[in-house]
Amino acid sequence: MQTSFTLVQLADPDIAAADKILRACVHCGFCTATCPTYVMLGDELDSPRGRIYLIKDMLENDRPATADVVPHLDRCLSCLSCMTTCPSGVHYMHLIDHARAHVEETFRRPVIDRAVRAVIARLLPNPKLFRRSLLGAFFMKPLAPLFDAIGLKPLAAMLRLAPAKVPPRGEQGPRVFPAQGERRGRVALLTGCVASVVAPHINAATIRVLTRHGVEVVLAEGEACCGALVHHMGRQAAALAAARTNVDAWIAEIDGEGIDSILVTASGCGTTIKDYGYMLRNDPAYATKAKTVSGLARDVSEYVNKIINLTTVPHPSLVVAYHAACSLQHGQKITRDPKEVLSKSGFVVKDVPDGHLCCGSAGTYNMLQPQLARTLRDRKVANIAKVAPDVIAAGNVGCITQIAAGTDIPVVHPIELIDWATGGPMPGALSRRGDAV
Ligand code: SF4
Ligand code: SF4
Repeated sequence: MQTSFTLVQLADPDIAAADKILRACVHCGFCTATCPTYVMLGDELDSPRGRIYLIKDMLENDRPATADVVPHLDRCLSCLSCMTTCPSGVHYMHLIDHARAHVEETFRRPVIDRAVRAVIARLLPNPKLFRRSLLGAFFMKPLAPLFDAIGLKPLAAMLRLAPAKVPPRGEQGPRVFPAQGERRGRVALLTGCVASVVAPHINAATIRVLTRHGVEVVLAEGEACCGALVHHMGRQAAALAAARTNVDAWIAEIDGEGIDSILVTASGCGTTIKDYGYMLRNDPAYATKAKTVSGLARDVSEYVNKIINLTTVPHPSLVVAYHAACSLQHGQKITRDPKEVLSKSGFVVKDVPDGHLCCGSAGTYNMLQPQLARTLRDRKVANIAKVAPDVIAAGNVGCITQIAAGTDIPVVHPIELIDWATGGPMPGALSRRGDAV
């Protein structure tokens, strides 16, 4: 695609990066067929190619984002299915991230939209505040239909997604979990923000699997939310601040006793941490350190499948529908590890039809675009039902929450099944549904 940025514009490294991405696009349109919003809405402007043109026009003309453009960008899930399909290697993720930051800087959203986004950006990355707000949400849940009726749909969606019960607090850092027996490895584990509040059992299962197989696990001092939630909302300064905080925390571990990898159990976070090197590339104080951190980041399934020799114990050979989280399959290109490790652990793994399409979770998407998110969820749940599984496994807490809201089939993280298969407890979602096993 031809671009016409001026030399002055190209002196800005972010514009230069956008220019390179735009030039790679040959406007073939292959990506439209696998874009969930185009599949649902059939509008070219809600396709990757359409959005690329909108972004090009906005950036080339140095134009503020407008009310005509913003809804099409907001409807993008950042699922990155288009990147998997694109034959020209267009890095859509970096382009839409840039566009979201431009929207945030130049567009004044309606007051309710601004308020909802401010609440999400403040609460979700802060586990203490988020936990407190969930306790409040429990009492407000019955008001969700009322909020829907008066047009406060994001608020209604937030209440519907809030768990009926807030689990007890999980493991908090700084802390070291020693390896059992001979130490074969040492890793840092991201505690996370939302996941540490709504699903602390995922990291607990991870720590059990790793330590049981000779890997020491450290929850690094000072580590915090990875910044993905605010990054996808265009809040660049907050996202970069979160990235710097975590880089400092993990570099201290690397320079201290050393770590082999930085493990992440929520693939949305993993995709962002693997991108820290790019996000901080223009910061001389952090560029090299961020690249080091990104280079060590691994999804837990990658590490367990490639590094650990699992020792299994007898357990039921359940049929597992593997839901490939977009951030894992499209964002990190990890498609085999989770399925291989589940098979090695003695489960029968089935792919979900149309598995390339998002479940509608997509970070904060199911709060900010609840109707589209629900359509995608219902479609995903119907496709999962076709393989008649005993249990659904997904490597991202957002997908787990989203899918679980639409089905009675238990939904777990793969590491919970691996933990069970190697001597840990049965996953909570399964034990609550004893009939499934
Ligand atoms: S598939 Fe790639 S090259 Fe083709 S239109 Fe989409 S982004 Fe552009
Ligand atoms: S990231 Fe997903 S929703 Fe956005 S344009 Fe690409 S395929 Fe479509």
